[in-house]
Amino acid sequence: MTKSDNIDQIIDRVLYSQDDIQKMCQKLGQQLTQDYAGKDPIVVGVLKGAVFFLTDLVRQMDVKMQNDFMDVSSYGDGFESSGKVRLDIDVEADVKGRDVLLVEDIVDTGHTLKFMKEHLLKRGAKSVKCCALLNKTERREEDVVVDYYGADVENEFVVGYGLDYLNEYRNLPYIGVLKPEVIQANLNR
Ligand code: 5GP
Ligand code: MG
Ligand code: MG
Repeated sequence: MTKSDNIDQIIDRVLYSQDDIQKMCQKLGQQLTQDYAGKDPIVVGVLKGAVFFLTDLVRQMDVKMQNDFMDVSSYGDGFESSGKVRLDIDVEADVKGRDVLLVEDIVDTGHTLKFMKEHLLKRGAKSVKCCALLNKTERREEDVVVDYYGADVENEFVVGYGLDYLNEYRNLPYIGVLKPEVIQANLNR
């Protein structure tokens, strides 16, 4: 997406502005600063979507930490998780005995989060918690806890600030609802 594209053609409406997002990061950062004081956590961003959120979030956390990344994919059709999750890139750090904070863009069905939590606990993490920018509680299929999140969203497909549709639109500075026609047009192709 570039400034020359007509954003009105793909975005139905803006859900969270840049300002709203920064306020969520500040609030979460304050809470995490309290909860992780003295714990020296490994803060793990989930590629690629959560990178945008992670960089803003950790700069609001006044805590000694290490940062790492992991990548997982679920076999889906571009906008829906199928439930089968695969590990693409593991964390580089040794998580054994460490408190791990997973940073996610959005938790939807919960399959991805459940898989990552189990994986990190298997590798010996002392604790694994999750901070997601957005939480789509309504669509949950797994019994997983999102320990911290910025906002609850309805069952609509959102893009921007890291969230993609077919790997595009991540660089939008706000979060918007994608027009259903955009998805439909692709499905009909
Ligand atoms: P889950 O395994 O919880 O169903 O899916 C989590 C992943 O699905 C997220 O990390 C994200 O990549 C994708 N996802 C779920 N809902 C949305 C959405 O509304 N917009 C975008 N762009 N991705 C979503
Ligand atoms: Mg991925
Ligand atoms: Mg995605």
